[in-house]
Amino acid sequence: MKSVPFLDLGKLHSSIRGELDAAYHRVMDSGNYIMGPELEAFEAEFARYSEVKHCIGVGNGLEALHLLLRAYDIGPGDEVIVPSNTFIATWLAVSECGATPIPVEPDSVTHNIDPALIGAAITSRTRVIMPVHLYGQPADMDPINALAAKHGLIVIEDAAQAQGARYKGRRAGSLGHAAGTSFYPGKNLGALGDGGAVLTNDDKIAEKVRQLRNYGSKVKYQHDIAGYNSRLDEMQAAFLRVKLSVLDQWNARRREIAQLYTRLLAGADIGLPAVPNYAEPVWHLYVVRSKQRDALRAHLERQGVSTVIHYPTPPHQQGCYRSLGLDGLPVAEVLANEVLSLPMSPMLTDEEIRYVVAQLRA
Ligand SMILES: *Cc1c(COP(=O)(O)O)cnc(C)c1O
Repeated sequence: MKSVPFLDLGKLHSSIRGELDAAYHRVMDSGNYIMGPELEAFEAEFARYSEVKHCIGVGNGLEALHLLLRAYDIGPGDEVIVPSNTFIATWLAVSECGATPIPVEPDSVTHNIDPALIGAAITSRTRVIMPVHLYGQPADMDPINALAAKHGLIVIEDAAQAQGARYKGRRAGSLGHAAGTSFYPGKNLGALGDGGAVLTNDDKIAEKVRQLRNYGSKVKYQHDIAGYNSRLDEMQAAFLRVKLSVLDQWNARRREIAQLYTRLLAGADIGLPAVPNYAEPVWHLYVVRSKQRDALRAHLERQGVSTVIHYPTPPHQQGCYRSLGLDGLPVAEVLANEVLSLPMSPMLTDEEIRYVVAQLRA
C-alpha cells in the first residue's frame, strides 16, 4: 500500500536545502537576529510581489490582523464583520481588541463570505469588514469594497491562505485598505516557524503598525503608545526570501495538481471546488464536500491517504465564543460537517494524485 501525506514540509524544504542552509549561516554569522537587513529586504521584496507600497513583518498572522485593527483604533463597542466559516484567528484578532466579531455566512459554492448578506449585518457600530480568501481563493472584493465605501467602513483582508492569488488580475493583499497575512509553516509562503505581515498602501497605517510591533516605539527607548513585541525575526525573514523566490513556481504546481484532481474526479459523487471567473486561486487547500465525509475520511486513512478537515467546528460553536450566544449559521455548520481537504503540496507527484483519486472513487 502507498502512503500519501497531507503535506510533507520536510520533503518540501529538502528540495531547497542549499539555499536555506546558506540563509541560516548568513544570519547566524551576522550576529544580528531581530530587526536587521534580512527583514528590511524581505519586506521590500514581499511588498513588490504583493503589489503594495508597504509590508511590515510581524510575529504571526493573528498579530498581523490584531495590530491592524489597533492601528485603525478598533476597540470595545465596535463591530467587525467576519465570515462564519473561517479559521478561529480571524475572530480572535477582533476579540483581542475588545471589539465584537459579527459573522456573515459564506456562499455555499465558493465557501467565501457572501457579499449579498453583508448589508443586513451592518449596524451603526460596524467599523470594519474582514473578508478571508479561504483555501487560497479570493473573496468577491468589488461588491465588498462598494458596500464599505457606501457605509464608510474599512476593509481588512485576511490573506493568510492566499499568497500569490489574484482577483480580476490584482493580488490578494492589495484589494482592501490593508491586509494581514501569515507565514505559518503550512501556508503557501511559510516560514520555518511563526511569522506574519501587514500589507497596505496607507503610509499612516504602515507607520502605526511599525510602531505597534516594536513596543510602541519609533525612536529607541521612547514609547509614545503602549505597543507589543511582535516582530518577524531575521532567521525567518531570510528563509522567507528563499521561499518567496520559488513561490510562483510552487503555486503553479499547486494549480496543476488542482486541475488534475478536478479532471480525474469529474462525475464522482462528491462536491468539487468551484472557481469563479474573477478568481485566480493559489490552492492553499483542495477542499471537496461529501455527506459521508467521516466515512470517506476513515476509508482514505486506511488506504494510506492523509486528509484534514478545515475546519471541524465553526468559531461560533467554539467554547470561547459560546458567551456570544450565536446560532442560526447553518451554512457554516453544514460545511463543517461536509468539507474534506485532500493532500496538497507542490511536492506531490501525478502518480500520488492518481492514487488518492482511485481510493476516493473506490
Ligand atoms: C493561518 C491563518 C491565520 C493565522 O495565522 P497564524 O500565523 O497561525 O497566527 C489567520 N487567518 C487564516 C484564515 C489562517 O489560515
